[in-house]
Amino acid sequence: MTAPVPFTSTSDITHYIDGRAASGIGARSQSVFNPATGEVPRKVLLAAVEDVNTAVAAAKKAFPAWADTPPIRRARVLNKFLALLNEHKDTLAAMITAEHGKVFTDAQGEVSRGIDIVEFACGIPQLLKGDYTDQVSTGIDNWTLRQPLGVVAGVTPFNFPVMVPMWMFPVAIACGNCFILKPSERDPSASIFMAELLTQSGLPDGVFSVVQGDKVAVDALLAHQDVKALSFVGSTPIAHYIYETGAHHGKRVQALGGAKNHMVVMPDANLEQAVDALIGAAYGSAGERCMAISVAVLVGDVADKIVPKLAERARALKIKNGMELDAEMGPIVTRQALERIEGYIDVGVTEGAELVVDGRGTKIEGHEGGFFTGGSLFDRVTQEMRIYKEEIFGPVLACVRVDDLAAAIDLVNAHEFGNGVACFTSDGNVAREFSRRIQVGMVGINVPIPVPMAWHGFGGWKRSLFGDMHAYGEEGVRFYTKQKSIMQRWPESIGKGAEFVMPTAK
Ligand code: NAD
Repeated sequence: MTAPVPFTSTSDITHYIDGRAASGIGARSQSVFNPATGEVPRKVLLAAVEDVNTAVAAAKKAFPAWADTPPIRRARVLNKFLALLNEHKDTLAAMITAEHGKVFTDAQGEVSRGIDIVEFACGIPQLLKGDYTDQVSTGIDNWTLRQPLGVVAGVTPFNFPVMVPMWMFPVAIACGNCFILKPSERDPSASIFMAELLTQSGLPDGVFSVVQGDKVAVDALLAHQDVKALSFVGSTPIAHYIYETGAHHGKRVQALGGAKNHMVVMPDANLEQAVDALIGAAYGSAGERCMAISVAVLVGDVADKIVPKLAERARALKIKNGMELDAEMGPIVTRQALERIEGYIDVGVTEGAELVVDGRGTKIEGHEGGFFTGGSLFDRVTQEMRIYKEEIFGPVLACVRVDDLAAAIDLVNAHEFGNGVACFTSDGNVAREFSRRIQVGMVGINVPIPVPMAWHGFGGWKRSLFGDMHAYGEEGVRFYTKQKSIMQRWPESIGKGAEFVMPTAK
């Protein structure tokens, strides 16, 4: 692979409203860092309430014509978008690495998983077909169809600035809605590039807009009476707030929150494979994935066998600027996040966990201003410790030792989060029992990060998701549409006089 072209723009990042870049009236802006260097190449505008109102008004204006556009024509626009995304995949990946810090090849993977959802959304005519029953009663037919909601919004986290917005807007737009994205203020460049590609694909102005910003913009979307639904992905306290506030304003809300994902390793598992899986899933993307493994549940004598191997591998991680192609782990997104993560390592030591590998204070030559930490590994972590209970969202793996499968399942089920979980085993019955009994939304058997494919839908349980519908897949189509039932009878079968009893099939 040839060296990727870095993203080096120094232009401030604007909003994108009604088919074009917009500066808005908000006077505030925020620094966007390159986490590998600590430099601030550009700033992002932060919307005022009026900017949100302008975007919603443009979306509302565009909605009737877009909702009336035949689904196959909406799909054709998305097909063009798909082609442009494939053409510009590496540009998007470089933007991600420049602002998030994850390694370039991982960023390419993120873009690919987003593209999967666009491919799924291109099948919208089939997905919106509805159901039809001929002759529910003599001369009467009944059918259901799904119609778009209107203006809908998405608020997304920093850790997947391309993929997570694509969990939402391709499906929402394909269903006939107009979508307003409020991306993370930490890595916002990709949102504008995606908006430009959508316009180039022929999407009518106003159908997709981007409002940059913070709580001010989010609260304005939550309170706006013309925003009919809001999809959120981010941390649990904010997810809970979004769910409550959105419901208070009468909106449909899906709010995906934080995680503490466990990987159970049974004594009969292939331990080499389990070590590979744990290293990739705990330290990939510097642990800043909602499906990262942050707890290894080591059953029986597994801990004594694999903790030394995990330690050796954690110490050997190639930590570099993510644009270097042999990098395995890049920097943390911000200095504040780095300090939070290293603070948790201090807490773990105070709580009495055994710090086997200490990543604190890692410095990378030539990148002294970057926000780097090493991979950290704790052993003998217990259920009461804060480093077990709370989401650290960094490259810190906590090993918990348990006696058997039942104790492993009880441990996972008692945790407040239920996003993803994995079990490594060579026993089919263990795998089956584990999958059935575990109280978690996404389960991997010998798969450490079981992010469902585009047509299956993504969502955790417990405090990892507030709402009823998972993201994308058919659940996404349901979320972004409302069902209408139509019953018809034509004059030939009418005329039997008034009916005073509940109609039944005759
Ligand atoms: P975050 O909750 O800080 O921010 C998410 C979004 O909410 C951003 O757009 C931000 O601007 C906005 N926001 C922040 N504070 C707000 C407030 N007080 N009021 C209104 N809006 C506010 O999350 P983050 O740090 O960007 O992302 C990391 C978190 O996201 C982790 O907890 C991770 O587990 C979670 N996450 C979950 C999933 C999932 O699918 N469950 C996927 C990715 C990330």
